Amino acid sequence: MSQPTQTFVIVGASLAGAKAAETLRTEGFDGRVVLIGNEAHRPYERPPLSKEYLRAEKDFDAAAVHPAGFYDEHDIELRTSTLVTSIDLATASVMLSSGERIAYDRLLLSTGATPRLLSVPGSDREGVFYLRSVDDADTLRQVIGPSAQVVVIGAGWIGTEVAASARQLGAEVAMVDLVTVPLERVLGPEVGAVYRDLHQRHGVQLHFGVGVEAIQGPKKTVESVRLSDGTVLPATTVVVGIGVGPRTELAEAAGLAVDNGVVTDEHLRASAPGVFAAGDVANAFHPRYGTPIRLEHWSAALNQGPAAARAMLGHEVVYDRTPYFFSDQYDLGMEYRGWAPDFDQVVFRGDPAGAEFLCFWLRHGRVTAAMNANIWDAGDAIEELLRAGRPVDPGRLADPDVDLTELASR
Ligand code: NAP
Repeated sequence: MSQPTQTFVIVGASLAGAKAAETLRTEGFDGRVVLIGNEAHRPYERPPLSKEYLRAEKDFDAAAVHPAGFYDEHDIELRTSTLVTSIDLATASVMLSSGERIAYDRLLLSTGATPRLLSVPGSDREGVFYLRSVDDADTLRQVIGPSAQVVVIGAGWIGTEVAASARQLGAEVAMVDLVTVPLERVLGPEVGAVYRDLHQRHGVQLHFGVGVEAIQGPKKTVESVRLSDGTVLPATTVVVGIGVGPRTELAEAAGLAVDNGVVTDEHLRASAPGVFAAGDVANAFHPRYGTPIRLEHWSAALNQGPAAARAMLGHEVVYDRTPYFFSDQYDLGMEYRGWAPDFDQVVFRGDPAGAEFLCFWLRHGRVTAAMNANIWDAGDAIEELLRAGRPVDPGRLADPDVDLTELASR
């Protein structure tokens, strides 16, 4: 007797979801794969949205995870513009807003994250934008150009990348944040200062250590942004990038364990049988760090999706990859590897004011994260150093004549 066909449902037609669907097929799964997303587009990658796509240097096809015909060719039921309204763990099914119920044998949640909203008077004015989706990027493409006065609120990754793109498009740009330098929370004051100087050199007006009090205008549209020190910045466009929160509503309502994301073990298994999570929404136990971590990075979506798919198929999977992300701003390209929520020392190899350098974050004498700026052949050695986790001599770490792999081995 033949086995009944199994159905694997993926909620979230994101990078993680699309890569999971692809992996189910490459691993030979011949059951039903249903990939559900509430956006109208097929799955795409987000990194270009604040960079080449925003500057109209890349089109949608270049950002898409797969070519248009891929899903049909691989018998993946891609349901775009489709909202999942609930998950019923007891009957192992998901409910769609159309009233359709789909029973699953395995369920993957890759619902991603949603922007944190700014709440100051006037933050709902026309001309105030967030950047998360390709539709958001399309809107920004229309309004950022040489005659625009753009105020960017939040000097995180969205803020700094949008500021760089907007300058490249010829707009006047001001950036506002409560912190003292851009990207301070992730990179710390030393490396944040590199980004401060970079943006200053490219003509961005920086307002740090100040809050936004109101977004103003005579009618419904934005005309200026008033800061807590009394400064009034003229604005035709405001872009808010003040962080994101995991989209856990469905998981929470279903009764899954949720704590800063959908809680999973190192196999990306959520708290109910047959349910998995991957990407921005997953707070996954990381064996190397001995704690759950939620990574809002492109690479986590790219790699956790396939890992979750293999775990759904019953393979022995442990997700223990080194966190990784990259950023390109003006002529500074960088890659960051590791995880350094706390650090007590920062060591540079090369001059951070120059075009090319390495930088290491240390805790108790061990390298926990590293960044290579405009140097593209250091990744493997850095990975080795991070995995080795040995105490290192900061003097040797700073010395360009010392091979990094040597530091990893002794
Ligand atoms: P983010 O990188 O977390 O940065 C948010 C920034 O906004 C922080 O500097 C934060 O300061 C600041 N902030 C918070 N509340 C504020 C307020 N009321 N007024 C002014 N500033 C405020 O978040 P994001 O830039 O919005 O990016 C969203 C997500 O996309 C993140 O997960 C990010 O990692 C991801 N992303 C990644 C890349 C990349 O990897 N290259 C590129 C774009 C986006 P505090 O730190 O003090 O809260």
